[in-house]
Amino acid sequence: MGKPSYWKTDQKRAARKARRNEDRMASINREDLLAAAMNQDEYLGFCKKCGFEQDGCEPDAENYKCEDCGAMAVTGAELLVLEGYAG
Ligand SMILES: [Zn+2]
Repeated sequence: MGKPSYWKTDQKRAARKARRNEDRMASINREDLLAAAMNQDEYLGFCKKCGFEQDGCEPDAENYKCEDCGAMAVTGAELLVLEGYAG
């Protein structure tokens, strides 16, 4: 008996998902992110899923709801920089 037939499909799906995540990571504009992190009066956050720029996020906000795509993935600009999103 070989591996179950769904095994390969799962692998492909995981690979596709990983690629999508990379695309989304790249969708956050690095210059915008750095500018937002430095301008701490505005409390900007960015969605890790779609790159949407959102107001009203504390610099250390994590997993806020994205007003654009609805994902719980909006993170404060400063925290994103710490996580390496500014490159
Ligand atoms: Zn989003």
